[in-house]
Amino acid sequence: MKTFICTLDYELFGNGSGDIIEDIVKPTERLLAIARKHNLKFTIFFEAIEFLKIREYNRVNVGRGLYKETLEIVEKQIIDAYLAGHDIQLHIHPQWWDAVLSDGKWKVGENWSLGDFGSEEKIYSVIKAGKNYLEELIHRVDTNYRCIAIRAGGYMAQPGKSICSAMKKLGLVIDSSVVPGDVLLSSRGGYDYSQISPESDYLYFDKLSGCESSEIIELPITTFPLRRIRKLCSISAIKARLSNKKSSLDSFAALGNNSLIKKIRYIFSSQWQTFDFCILMPDIQRNFLKDALRSPKKLFVVIGHPKSFHDDKNFSFFMNYMASKDVDFCTISEFYHRNFKA
Ligand SMILES: [Zn+2]
Repeated sequence: MKTFICTLDYELFGNGSGDIIEDIVKPTERLLAIARKHNLKFTIFFEAIEFLKIREYNRVNVGRGLYKETLEIVEKQIIDAYLAGHDIQLHIHPQWWDAVLSDGKWKVGENWSLGDFGSEEKIYSVIKAGKNYLEELIHRVDTNYRCIAIRAGGYMAQPGKSICSAMKKLGLVIDSSVVPGDVLLSSRGGYDYSQISPESDYLYFDKLSGCESSEIIELPITTFPLRRIRKLCSISAIKARLSNKKSSLDSFAALGNNSLIKKIRYIFSSQWQTFDFCILMPDIQRNFLKDALRSPKKLFVVIGHPKSFHDDKNFSFFMNYMASKDVDFCTISEFYHRNFKA
């Protein structure tokens, strides 16, 4: 039987823009409501560093009240999701580590890559701070909770050696940052996962990172080839981009493809697209899922982002389509305990 793990990256936009209530809390509510209808449990990757940073500014008034009150809403949503059976794990965007709030706008750091964020000690400190915050949060309702998995922001988990060493020290046993086949080169960081087969079910993150050991399980994100133009033309993707034009333009500029010819070539080429149930329209999902269910691959880690969830119909289509299929849905913690825990 095939297994699907549905993950959500719970976060603001990478450049610090967005509104916590409108872009995270409300769309997450809608996602959780659809999940409830289908009895699906998500694995929510909680971006801990931005909320730790926001906690430092908890006396700042954000229009509807103090940041402290907004943070309480976020923490309650995460705790309630956990109590409803969803798995909560760690997501880290290191650009928030040195972020500052000035004139109501966040200025995040220039380096967005966790793998390349500095010394081994610095990477350890960032991951440790995030893990401690998440565990402190969930321990308010369940002292048995353990944070076991991590996803690097923007999937930038290369080089992976320092991340592995921090993970081992902190007892993290699963990474889910790898985007098989994909390559990203930008001024803020990047990755090259072109040597990793999209057919892989699971791998070992330490081995992929050049370590001798095979102790950290890699659950790669499911990818499939898609022409960029096809994705750009999908209505939901357009909505997602318009809702955060500045962040999209920044991301495009960071690619460094400055000439028009290069830009045109870029949008007509294929990319390894992550299977994203928030933004991919039903026809693209259907094409992929038909092939996926016939393929020898057994494990699918699919993704979504509340901040880009504008059309309920995309995720509803996914859940309705899968309802009639002989497929097992589980969380990362469940998958780990079933398959790797003695
Ligand atoms: Zn993220």
